[in-house]
Amino acid sequence: MLALADVVKHYRDGDGGTVRALDGVSLNVASGELVALYGPSGSGKTTLLSIVAALFAPDRGEVRVDGRAVSGLTGKEAAGYRLRQVGYIPQAPGLMPGVPAVDNAALKLFDLRRSPREARREVAPLLHRLGLGERLKHRPEQLSAGERQRVAIARALAAGPKLVLADEPTGALDSVRSREVLQLLKELCDEQQVAMLLATHDPQAAAYADEAIALIDGQLVAHVPDVGAGLAGTR
Ligand code: ADP
Repeated sequence: MLALADVVKHYRDGDGGTVRALDGVSLNVASGELVALYGPSGSGKTTLLSIVAALFAPDRGEVRVDGRAVSGLTGKEAAGYRLRQVGYIPQAPGLMPGVPAVDNAALKLFDLRRSPREARREVAPLLHRLGLGERLKHRPEQLSAGERQRVAIARALAAGPKLVLADEPTGALDSVRSREVLQLLKELCDEQQVAMLLATHDPQAAAYADEAIALIDGQLVAHVPDVGAGLAGTR
C-alpha cells in the first residue's frame, strides 16, 4: 500500500550547513500491517511522515500510495489525497473545544460534504468500537486524556483511509493509557485493513508493531523484528 524508494530530504541549517534529515530511505507497509518507525528525537520521523502526507516533496526518491506517486501532486491534489486517503493521528488530539465528541470525530466527513446527520451516523459505530459509545455528546473538556486520544483516532479513521500515519500517538499519555491506545491501533489496523506507520521513540510502542524499523540520523539502520518479541512480555 505504501512504498518509499530511496527518499532523500536535506535541510539548510542556520550556519549554511546541511541537515540530512532523510538519507535514502526505502520501506514498504502493506494493508493491515502496523510498522513502527523507531528512533530518537531528530532522527527524521516527522520529516518522513510529512513527505508521505504530501505536505512537502522529497529532494529525491519516490513515495507511492496504492500505486500512485504522491510526491508530484499539486497543492489541491495533495489536500484531496490527505482528506480521502490518509488518516493522521497526532501526539496531542487537537480536538475543537466545546464541540461534542461525535462532531469532533466526524470532521473529515463534514469536509467531504456529508450532512451532519449522515456524518454522525457514519462515525458512531467507530466511536462505539473505541469504547466511547457513552461519550458521543461529551465535549473534550469532559473527557479523559485517553478518551480524547481515542476521539482523535476515530477522526483519523472516519473517512476510511487506506493509510494511517501516527506521530508519537501516545506521547501525552501515561503508560496504562498508552498500552490501551496501542492495542486499539493494532486491532483497528487489522480490522480496517489500513497500512499504518507509527513514528515513536518509545520501545513499548514499537513492541506492538508487526515490524519495527530503526531510523537514526535519517537512515534506516536495521529492521528490528525482535523489538516486538523482546518486549512482548512487558505488555
Ligand atoms: P524527528 O521527528 O525524528 O524528531 P525531524 O524529522 O523533526 O525528526 O527532524 C530531523 C532533522 O531535521 C533534525 O535534525 C531537525 O533539526 C532537522 N529539521 C527538521 N525540520 C527542519 C527545517 N524545517 N529546517 C531545518 N532543519 C530541520
